Amino acid sequence: MKVFINPGHAAGGNPAPGCVNRAEHLRECDIALTVGSLAGEFLEAAGCRVKLLQSHNLATESPAYPSVTGEANRWLADAFVSIHVNAGGSRGAETLCYWQYGAGGRLAACIQKQLVDSIRPFDKGYADRGVKENKHLCVLRETYMPAALVELGFIDSEDVQLLKEHQEDMARAVARGVTDYWRDI
Ligand SMILES: [Zn+2]
Repeated sequence: MKVFINPGHAAGGNPAPGCVNRAEHLRECDIALTVGSLAGEFLEAAGCRVKLLQSHNLATESPAYPSVTGEANRWLADAFVSIHVNAGGSRGAETLCYWQYGAGGRLAACIQKQLVDSIRPFDKGYADRGVKENKHLCVLRETYMPAALVELGFIDSEDVQLLKEHQEDMARAVARGVTDYWRDI
């Protein structure tokens, strides 16, 4: 199985780090890269081939950077996972897909379940916000393979403690979600 992992936002935070928590010195791009890289290692250990790309160019909007969806499509990935962190003060995980009843929806549901099951035991306030459809995100719309975008938690709520201390657990959950999906098809 070929898994394409896209840590959200620009590599190195330049020109756009995603959401930030200045008091905690946390940036979405850094959390996404750490969790994405670790998830890739877990998936490789499980026998998958993994390609990881963090870029300011998601489709073709910033041609100076490599195109995330272009790379995934050319590589003929079997699954695509984009990794993000939310902002807005709420709590918990949610996973987005283009169409809930398609393969991307099943991939999203597998990741969401693993993430909630593995992180909630550390903090009951970590909510299961569920799988949500989103037709506007180009990583979900422009990818030819089943795609999911996971929001690990909120950088500006009590989730921040989980985001600081449980990145490896989150990565393992994402990887298990992907292998659960693959086993079920
Ligand atoms: Zn994001």
